Parts: sequence; structure tokens; C-alpha cells
Amino acid sequence: MGESFLHYIWQFQYFQKAALKTTAGETLNIIKPGILNSDAGPDFAQAKIKIDSIDRVGNAEIHMKASEWYDHKHDRDSAYENVVLHVVWEENKPVYRMDGTRIPTLELKDRIEPQLIKSYQKLISSSLTIPCERSFADVDVLLKHAMIDSALMRRLEAKSKLILERLDYNKGDWEETTYQLLAENFGFKVNKDPFAQVAKTLSYKILQRHRRQPIQVEALLFGQAGFLVAKTKDEYLTQLYNEYQFLAKKYELIPEQLNVSQWKFLRLRPANFPTIRLAQFAALVSAHQSIFSAIIELSNYKTLVNFFEILQSAYWQNHYRFGKKAKSTVAGLGQVSIENLIINTIAPLLVAYGQSKDDDQLIDRALNILQAVPSEKNRITRLWQALGYTSKNAFDSQGLIELYNNFCQKRACLNCVIGSSLLKPNQPL
Ligand code: SF4
Repeated sequence: MGESFLHYIWQFQYFQKAALKTTAGETLNIIKPGILNSDAGPDFAQAKIKIDSIDRVGNAEIHMKASEWYDHKHDRDSAYENVVLHVVWEENKPVYRMDGTRIPTLELKDRIEPQLIKSYQKLISSSLTIPCERSFADVDVLLKHAMIDSALMRRLEAKSKLILERLDYNKGDWEETTYQLLAENFGFKVNKDPFAQVAKTLSYKILQRHRRQPIQVEALLFGQAGFLVAKTKDEYLTQLYNEYQFLAKKYELIPEQLNVSQWKFLRLRPANFPTIRLAQFAALVSAHQSIFSAIIELSNYKTLVNFFEILQSAYWQNHYRFGKKAKSTVAGLGQVSIENLIINTIAPLLVAYGQSKDDDQLIDRALNILQAVPSEKNRITRLWQALGYTSKNAFDSQGLIELYNNFCQKRACLNCVIGSSLLKPNQPL
């Protein structure tokens, strides 16, 4: 058992409150437990208590052992001078303020129902993939929805934060930022890093200048990716090679060129080969004057799908790699890939833009788009399905992925609405 459990107990007041006394024997009444503080400083702010007949308003600090007050050096920190109640599992030592007055202390070790401690321990030490899986069916469906919504928002906010950091690095340039985000996503999981490196070393501004000559856009991307290091018998490759030699010198790109060995082809379906993805990305860049401005104009899922329904250049419609003719026609970007781009790039981008402009309509648009995208199907969504929760769309699947990765896996059940509904006094798990 740890301090976070005591926070939980204090927050929800799940302890025996009859004839409450401080460890110094004063009568104690808790009027308000206060507001949980996740920043630096005491654990709960604006707590209101009554000791004997005197009302006190201030902070509450929680520790397993009272002596941690000194271990954490609160005795030398003025931020803790307004602590009106020290809530501990055990008072192993009385604690005093700087002026020598004793801090009223509430000891909880004999006031928490053993069954509640047992249920908590059962949940956090569970070896099950989803610790609450045996009780999950008993939880009110509205609480499940609420938790999934909140997990989704947390996921989008975390992604938005990274986008805004990148925007800062790009000196507020949304076009460059969007180009980099899309490039990474075009690499999907396997070739994400080299794609990101290409976009970092080849600015969008250079590509924009050449977008009306799609062959030059391809030459810049394939050249920077390290695919154009020598002429071969393949006529198209030689053409790109010559274009790249000229453009790379002009823009001084060669020192930052990638090595072709950085790209992974192994175990990929040919349609996902990085050569095909680079060609599709080149086609997307060539098709729009300004990629971010174009995306921000698209109001729904359908228009976004149209936006990404791109077909690579003629050469890549019958080649998967340079110099090797494919047996059948190579298709453009597929539906699942488009959905992946919408889920992982467009929705977070809209949230980040909405936050930067303080425009909730953009955030609502991101959420509406996610509700229109079919659910992802992966190991995590299947785990929830086995518990009876089938995700209907990407809004659900993204929320379930976040819930699993950042709550269930971390055994953060005390921070989960579902966990809070299961961990209550007189309610064995
Ligand atoms: S975090 Fe929530 S959903 Fe996950 S196991 Fe714990 S209580 Fe269940």
C-alpha cells in the first residue's frame, strides 16, 4: 500500500469518521477534504476542518508515516506552513511547524475497512492483463463511457502538446510542422524514423517551390532518402538521379542525405514498401500549394478521405522498387492507411491548432471526425471486446488504447473512474 491509496481514501473520505480525533486528542470534524493538487506543494488545497470548536481552512498533507514530513524537508518549506491537517497512516513522530506549534494529525491505520485495502491490493497486484476484468461487466456503462472519453481527451492533449512543442521549434510555422507530422505518419510504424529524418533535412519550403514539377519533388524526396546514389540502367531512376544532383547542390542537401540501409522492407507487404510511401507522399505534396491550409479547410471525414486518396506517379503504379516491374498495378494509398493518417495526424493537429487559437470548434471537429472513422482493430481493442466493450469508431478505440496503455498497464486504477466505482467501502471485489 502506498501514499496514492491514502490520497484516494482522503479524497473520497472512505474511512471511519465516528468520534474523529487528532493524535493529540482534539475533536476533529472534516468539513471539506480540499482539492487534490497535482503540482508542487501540499497534496490538498482549501481543506476545511474544525478542531475542537475552531474552524480552520488551509492545506492537507498526506504521508504514510508522519516522519516523512521531515524526510521531505517540509519543515523548511514555507509552502507547508498553512497545512491545517497532516493525514497519515501512522504517526511515528509528532510534527511541528517552524514556530514550534504541533500540526494536527489524523492517523488512518485503524479507520480504513480491511476489505477495501484487500480489494485495492488485489487490483494493483493483479497479474491479469486488465486487472478489473472480472468485475468489468458489473460497472455502469455510463461510467465506462465517461472514462473512455476522458482517456481519449488525455491522449489528444498529450499529442497536441508534442505538436505545439514542434511548432515552437519550427518558429510557429504550421505548414512545416504539418509536413513533418504527415511525413512521420507516412512511414507508419516501421519507417517512421527515416521518414521523419527526411522531413527534417528537406524543408517543406523547398518542396513547395518545385511542386509543379512532380518529378523534382520525387527526386528531392527519394534523393534525400538515400535511394539515388548511383545511376543504373533504370531510366526513371537515372532521371531522378540527375534532378537530385542538381537540386541537392543548389540547396546543399547532400551532407544530410540518409543511407538507404536505414529503410526497412523486410516483412512489409509490397504496398507498404517505403518506396511506395515516398512516392505517395511526393504526390500529396505536389497536389497542394499549402498542405496545412488545405487540411484546415476540410470539415469532415469524407473530405479528408478524398484528400488522401492520392495516386502515386505512373512509374510507381507498376513498380514496388526501382528497376523491378510489379506483376500487377500498384494501388494508391489504401483505406486503412488513410484512416491511420486521420486518427494519428489530422485529429491531433486539429486539437493542437484549436488549443493554440483557443477555438473549441476545431477540437469538436476533431472529435466528430474520430467518431466518423471506423474503429481500429488491434490487440488492445480485442482485449476490451472480450470484456464486452466493442468500440464503435476511432473515438472509442483511441480512448480504449489510452485507457489500456496509461491506466490498466500502469495499474493506475485509483485514477480511473471505473476503478473508483469498484473500490468503495463495503464492496468486495
Ligand atoms: S485502470 Fe480502470 S479499467 Fe484499467 S484495470 Fe484499472 S480499474 Fe480497470
